[in-house]
Amino acid sequence: ATPMSIMVGVGRGAREGVLIKNAEALERFEKVDTLVIDKTGTLTEGRPAVTAIKTVAGIEEGELLRLAASLERGSEHPLADAVLRAAKDRGLSLSEAADFDSPVGRGVIGTVDGKKVVLGGAPLMAEQGVDLGPLLAEAEALRQDGTTAVFAAIDGRLAGVLGIADPIKPTTPDAVRALLADGVRLVMMTGDNRTTAIAVARKLGIEEVEAEVLPQDKAKVVQKLRAEGRVVAMAGDGVNDAPALAAADIGVAMGAGSDVAIESAGVTLLKGDLQGLVRARRLSRMVMRNIR
Ligand code: ADP
Ligand code: MG
Repeated sequence: ATPMSIMVGVGRGAREGVLIKNAEALERFEKVDTLVIDKTGTLTEGRPAVTAIKTVAGIEEGELLRLAASLERGSEHPLADAVLRAAKDRGLSLSEAADFDSPVGRGVIGTVDGKKVVLGGAPLMAEQGVDLGPLLAEAEALRQDGTTAVFAAIDGRLAGVLGIADPIKPTTPDAVRALLADGVRLVMMTGDNRTTAIAVARKLGIEEVEAEVLPQDKAKVVQKLRAEGRVVAMAGDGVNDAPALAAADIGVAMGAGSDVAIESAGVTLLKGDLQGLVRARRLSRMVMRNIR
């Protein structure tokens, strides 16, 4: 590509909300045949909300939410935000948490009002020796619908499960359709539970899903695809996604995402709209053919 056509391409991208950091990314984009997409905050709004609360006998919904929110005050995860907003909506007054710990990509642990509270997915609960039996059917029903099930245990015993739903961005279905029509292989990647992830992927027509991926393993998924000879773009928004963005042929950050993600990416979609990927491919083709 000529310097002139690259300049034109970068300029046109900027006007369309596609911020291209380096010429190389623009030149390479047309060769991308595989796109790995983070689920939360990239395909979905990233602003999840509590949509269901199920408790075991003897535990009150409001009390469970109050203990959960008291603990989540220490976390910056989008799921924590959902729990805090739900508690605020109900006007619950929160307690101070002690002994706070947040095993990354798993959940949160701490002491609230003298009780040991654990919140998180099934793997963390298993690790803590909590039997999920009483609420497993409820959790599975939530997941089948694409909702994330966050379990809560009090003093080592299952107390309830929160259903936390994160709506798909209105712009996502069209972007996914356009990318698939363009022959791009799409792989959804998430730390979330497999059933939840597959339910969301199915709604979008995405067939490949890498679920229950720990943050430190996200880059490995990208590396594996590259080792198979694929030219891989990775789109993500979170701090967790930064190593995977850096490992890809092209990293694509969401404009509303974390600064770390934006720094690790060669391309930033200012509006956080995946349609920008379709535009970036078009621009790349234009630039490589020196069309103006
Ligand atoms: P994603 O890749 O979709 O952004 P994460 O890797 O951040 O997801 O989280 C994976 C899983 O860990 C969540 O689905 C949830 O079960 C659990 N988890 C992580 N952080 C929290 C938290 N603060 N509160 C409750 N559960 C959490
Ligand atoms: Mg994310």
